Amino acid sequence: MSESTEASAAESDTPATEDDAATAAPDTRSAIEGKGPATVGEIDPEAESDVERAARETPPGRPLRVDDLRKEFGGLTAVDGASFDVEEGSLTGLIGPNGAGKSTTFNCITGVHTPTSGSVHLYNEEITGLRPHEIADRGLVRTFQIARELGDMTVLENMLLAPKAQRGEALWRSVLPGARQSVRAQERELRERAWETLEFFEIDHLAEEYAGNLSGGQRKLLEMARALLTDPEVVLLDEPLAGVNPTLEEKLLDRIHELRKQGYTFLLVEHDMDVIMDNCERIIVMHRGRVLADDAPAAIKENEEVIEAYLGANV
Ligand code: ADP
Ligand code: MG
Repeated sequence: MSESTEASAAESDTPATEDDAATAAPDTRSAIEGKGPATVGEIDPEAESDVERAARETPPGRPLRVDDLRKEFGGLTAVDGASFDVEEGSLTGLIGPNGAGKSTTFNCITGVHTPTSGSVHLYNEEITGLRPHEIADRGLVRTFQIARELGDMTVLENMLLAPKAQRGEALWRSVLPGARQSVRAQERELRERAWETLEFFEIDHLAEEYAGNLSGGQRKLLEMARALLTDPEVVLLDEPLAGVNPTLEEKLLDRIHELRKQGYTFLLVEHDMDVIMDNCERIIVMHRGRVLADDAPAAIKENEEVIEAYLGANV
């Protein structure tokens, strides 16, 4: 990461003047990004300036971009200026010792948490601070654990409840221009899509089973199937293999690779290092809320800082 020349100027002993870059920056940023007032106090002099960042376009083929993301909980900084992007059609791993800030980063990207500062872009559109369903509508979803109360519903019923499938509905409308689809026709479409998705994950034979009776692995497949029903472009997976037996783990990974071939983009948090190393082409390592490394698996394995971060942590 390159340090800006402004950063070193800001660190010099020269007393600040009124047209100092630091005071000029917030207005410029608001003008460029069309956002509200900037949180000036939180600008890290070491970091790339906001003007530079705003001027920088997301490289082509990078649907997801996170810039200088920060999330504080009271006095605790869970994410401390994380920046990274994710390549289209990739399976990118996000790893780091316990408490590194991975889940909080996911929650900020998907709208579960509002970041304290920083930004998230999806296909060059800013999605920072949007509600989870608004973000899902734009094509980014994460898997959610099936709530206990939904265990009393069947697998198929759980699918039909999946986050509205608004994108899918929009798609059907465009397929049938001007057609006034009856609610029944829409329901039939949703059902068909639900079945196809269950078949894709090879859990269609469980359609009439209560979700509460599924094994841990089957549940994970259902969670993925529900997320996919909204027809997303980018899928975030937080420990999708936790508690999954080796056979189903194999199946899940196989499905992820298949979807990736179809052009879906995945960002995967997983604590099993072998899974990450064997399946991801690129790995982002977080440590203490920051991005410590961002590289190919072979390079990550050899990275001294990464090794130290893991050794020093209670993993
Ligand atoms: P990871 O997923 O990498 O293990 P998390 O993002 O879950 O890390 O947590 C990062 C830090 O933020 C931890 O110190 C954790 O205790 C804290 N944290 C996470 N979520 C909350 C929350 N909702 N309220 C307060 N602290 C939180
Ligand atoms: Mg976590």
